[in-house]
Amino acid sequence: MYGTQALATNAGGALRKLSSNESPYPPSHQVVAAIAEAARNGNRYPTLFGEEVAARLADDHGVGADAVTVGGGSLMLLQQILQALASPGDEIMFGWRSYEAYPILVQTSRCVPAKVPLKSYRLDLGAMSDRISSRTRVVVLCNPNNPTGTVLTSDMVEQFLGTVPSDCAVVLDEAYCEFGQSPNGIGDRLIRGGWENVLSLRTFSKAFRLAGLRIGYCVSSSEMISAVRRVALPFTVSRVAAAAALVCLQEGLDSKSAVIRGIVAERERLAASFVEMGVDVPPSQANFVWLPLGGRSEEFALACADAGVGVRCFDGEGVRLTIGLAPDNDTVVRVGEQLLDGWAGEG
Ligand code: PMP
Repeated sequence: MYGTQALATNAGGALRKLSSNESPYPPSHQVVAAIAEAARNGNRYPTLFGEEVAARLADDHGVGADAVTVGGGSLMLLQQILQALASPGDEIMFGWRSYEAYPILVQTSRCVPAKVPLKSYRLDLGAMSDRISSRTRVVVLCNPNNPTGTVLTSDMVEQFLGTVPSDCAVVLDEAYCEFGQSPNGIGDRLIRGGWENVLSLRTFSKAFRLAGLRIGYCVSSSEMISAVRRVALPFTVSRVAAAAALVCLQEGLDSKSAVIRGIVAERERLAASFVEMGVDVPPSQANFVWLPLGGRSEEFALACADAGVGVRCFDGEGVRLTIGLAPDNDTVVRVGEQLLDGWAGEG
């Protein structure tokens, strides 16, 4: 089961979705026009591996064409990474709780998950370092971490890398970095600094608002990228996704930053509202906030659903709220005020 899904109790009514970390804003007109144009050639296969997007990304990141590869979403690239670098029975390490897809991918790769508990809602790099063994092939660091929104700095990760054997790869899943204080991610700097076992995963699904098209990419050393490419299936990056991504890259950070600024402002507003209610909201640098509601998580999620908004509930742990449009954010704040005001944890 893919996480604990939003609880749909408002019979028949479609929930407004604050549950999948999507952008509430549609792609720009120029992007939609490029999608329509690409659709006219929908009878033709796309390029083998999204090479036109990879070339543009290599320029943007200031790396060689052999240091970037594009795929049908960053999750697909993570699957390729595991397939390329790990064998059945090998250990794949990640923090927990983190992105729900990690244990699924590890399982389907027939590898063994090593889940290292978070410490104060953050990835615990000390504990991860202590747990690495000769069987650990890949460590996945979700940064910002889904669902808690917390981040590691590049200095913290660099220190960690010093403790990781060179035959163990470290994947930085930077799906949400554009919403944080390092909008270009921290992977590039580490890879440029000579950490050849680091792979940075990026996506067009979040800040670039193309979740429905599925396109992501990986930046790493040429050695890692050639390993990841060896297990790629051809034609997984569709024409429409490639065309849309190219326009997103042309538009660049400037045009999306107004959208990002809006999400960040709403995130801070939402977090402050719940902090005022007594909820211990960790500081988020993503497009969501984590409410550690413990045993009241389900009750809160059900009340949100009754109010017409779907949120992501992790029973007994907490609720993840994706930042949506102001009226939907207002709805969850109202639900919180009704249910939680003055609430200061479970104890
Ligand atoms: N990584 C993380 C941490 C995510 O939360 C998500 C989406 N929920 C993804 C990757 C998936 O991104 P994509 O759409 O590029 O596969």
